[in-house]
Amino acid sequence: MNINRLRSKLCGMVLLFMVLTTQSAFAEPISKTTSYIMDVQFNEDAKTLSAAETVSFTNNYGEDLKEIVFHLYPDSYGKAETMPSLGPIMNGQISEDQKGDIDIIDVTYDGQKLNYTEDNQVLKIMLLNPLKSNDSIELKINFKLKIPQGFGRLGYNDDIFSLTNWYPILSIYDPAYDSWDENPFHPIGESNYSDVSDYDIKIHIPSNFVIASTGVTANEETSGNEKVVKVDAENVRDFVFMLSKNYKVISKNVSGIKVNSYYIRDEVKPMAQRMLDFASSALLFYSDSFGKYPYPELDVVETPLSGGAMEYPQLIQMGRYPYFQNADQNRDTFYTSWLDEAIVHETGHQWWYVSVGNNEFKEPFMDESLTCYSTAYYFEKQYGKYDRRSILTAFRAAIYPSKTEPFDSSVDDFKNMSEYNTVIYNRAPIVLEDLRSTVGDEKFLNIMRNYFKKYLFKNGTINDFLNVIKETAGDDVAAKIKKAISSTDYYPENLVPTKEETKEINKRNFVENIKQQEQYNGMIPGSILVRGMGGKIHIITPEDPDENNKKTTSNLVKNLKSYSDSMGLGVQFAVEDSSKFESSNLKENLILIGNNENNEIINKMSSSFPVVLSSKGLLFDEAAIAAKDYSGYFLISNPNNAENIIIVISPPKDEQYYNLDWYGPYQYDFKVNGKMEIKGKF
Ligand SMILES: [Zn+2]
Repeated sequence: MNINRLRSKLCGMVLLFMVLTTQSAFAEPISKTTSYIMDVQFNEDAKTLSAAETVSFTNNYGEDLKEIVFHLYPDSYGKAETMPSLGPIMNGQISEDQKGDIDIIDVTYDGQKLNYTEDNQVLKIMLLNPLKSNDSIELKINFKLKIPQGFGRLGYNDDIFSLTNWYPILSIYDPAYDSWDENPFHPIGESNYSDVSDYDIKIHIPSNFVIASTGVTANEETSGNEKVVKVDAENVRDFVFMLSKNYKVISKNVSGIKVNSYYIRDEVKPMAQRMLDFASSALLFYSDSFGKYPYPELDVVETPLSGGAMEYPQLIQMGRYPYFQNADQNRDTFYTSWLDEAIVHETGHQWWYVSVGNNEFKEPFMDESLTCYSTAYYFEKQYGKYDRRSILTAFRAAIYPSKTEPFDSSVDDFKNMSEYNTVIYNRAPIVLEDLRSTVGDEKFLNIMRNYFKKYLFKNGTINDFLNVIKETAGDDVAAKIKKAISSTDYYPENLVPTKEETKEINKRNFVENIKQQEQYNGMIPGSILVRGMGGKIHIITPEDPDENNKKTTSNLVKNLKSYSDSMGLGVQFAVEDSSKFESSNLKENLILIGNNENNEIINKMSSSFPVVLSSKGLLFDEAAIAAKDYSGYFLISNPNNAENIIIVISPPKDEQYYNLDWYGPYQYDFKVNGKMEIKGKF
C-alpha cells in the first residue's frame, strides 16, 4: 500500500469518525477522497503530453460503485462546435493543428487492464468488482494529449503552452440519482465540477522552459537538456500549468502568501506589475472580507488566451498584455481598466470556485455571479461608491425591468453567450446587493464568511447558500433571496439609483469617456467641458454680431448648458462681447466665435494660433485655403495657461445651429464651400 492510498484511507476513516461524533455545521471535515500522482512528459516539437496518471480514490458515497467516471475535457477541443469559448462561439472549420485530443492508452488496476469507454468527453471505467462503500482503489491511466494550437484555455501559441483541463479528472457521483456527473464541457461558460484532491506531479520539460502551476514547486532537477519539475498541490480541485521559454517573473509576499506574476516581454513588465499589485490587493481584501486565502501561493500568468481571463486553483490565466508606457499608474485607458477588473474578478474566483467549489455547469450563479458581485464590492470599498467598476455603476445603474432566464439556470439553458453574460454576469449579482441592503453590511459579510467557512474545500449549491442565509439572517431573508434567484422577471426597484446618484454617474461617465478619448486623440472638443467643471467658460462673440451669429451663439450656449446640467458638470457660461472682454480673463477656458476681422480677441491671439481665420479663407501653418464660405472649429491649449483650452468657432453663415462633436476625435474640422471637409489633429 503506498502512502497515497494510506492517506486516502485515513481520510475516509477520519470523515466517518467526525460525522459520527459531531453534527456541528462548522466542524465538518474536508471530504477529500482523491489523490493524483502523475509523471508527465512534455514534447515541445510534437506539441503533446504523455502521462502516467495514478488516481487513488476512496468511495465515501455510501453505496457500491460498478463504474468510475472521469471527465475528458480536452476532447471538447476536438471540433469547432464543442470548443469552449470565452468570446463568441466558434462555428465553421478548424484546422488539424487547432484540434485538441486526449487519447487513453490503457487503464489498469492492480496490474490488470480494465475495460473502458470514451464518449462525449467522458471516460467510463468498468471495475472487475464493485468498489464497496468506504473502500479505496488505485487506478492507473496512461494517456496522450495533443495540445491544440490557438488562443483557448487549453492550447499553445508561439512558444507559450497553456495546460488546463488537460487530463482525465475524476467526476462526482450523486447517490440521489445513482449516477456520475457526465456533463461535457459546455461551449458557453464553464463546466468544471470536481472534489478537492492532493496532486503529486512530475513534469519533464526542456531545461530552457519556465513553468507556472497550481501548487508549489518542490524541486527542480536539470540533467542535460531536460528538467524535471516536481510540484505538490494540496486541497485543490484541479491542477493546471503553463510553460514558456520566455517567462519572466516578479513576485510579492502578501501576508505570507507568495504572489507571482509571469510575463513574456520586457515591454509589458509594467502591466505584469500592475496585475501583481491588483491581485495582491484583492487577495488581502477578500481574505479580510470572506475568509483567509487557504493556499501558500497564487500565480498570475500571461498566456495567448483571447477573449478574457480564466481562473484555476492558485493560478490565473491572463491573455497577452498590451503595452502601455505608464501601465503602473494609468487607470484611465480602456485596457487598463478592463484588465484591472479582470484580475480582481479572477482573484475573487479563488474564493468562489477554487476554495468553495460548485457545479459550474449546473449553477453558474454560485461561481460567476458571486464573483462578479465580490469584484464590484472590492471596487466600491477601494475606490468609492461611484467608481466605474463599483456595485452602483456596474449593477444598480443597469437595472431595468425585463424577462430573463432565472438566475439558477444551468449553462446549457442559455441560447447564446450574450444571454448567459447578461443574466449571470450583469443581472444576477444584484441579488447579492438586495441581500446586503436588506441585512446591512455586517450581516452580509457574516453570511459570506459562514458560507465560505462551511464549504471551504467542498462544493456548495444555491440551496446550501440559502440555508446559510437562513441560519445567519432568518427565514424571511432566505425566502426573499430564494424567490429572487428563481424569478424570471426580478426587478428590485428599491435599488434603482436615485436622481442624485444618476447625475453623478452621468458626470463621471462623461469625464471618463472624454479622458479615454484624450488618451488616443489628445484634446477634443469635450475636453473644454471637463476643464471647465465647477468653473466658467467664456464665450466671446464678435463685436457687432449679426442676427444669424447671435442665434448660432445662443443655440450653442443652450446646448452647452443642457450638457452641463444633465451631467451635473457645474460649468457656468458667460457670453461676452469681444470689444469689452477683460484681458485678465484671457487665460481662462474660452470659446471664441468669428474670425480675425470681426473678433478682436481672435485677432489679438492669432499669432499664437495654428490657424488664422479671415474673411478670405483659412491660413494653416502649412497651407492656405482661399474660401469665402467656410465654417468649423479648431482647438488648442490656451497659450496663456496650458491647463485651459481655447476653441475657435467660425459658425456657418446661414444656419442657426452649430454644435460640436464633444467626443471628438478632431482638433480642427472645417467645411469649405459647403462640400470640402478639412479635419485632423495638430
Ligand atoms: Zn468569472
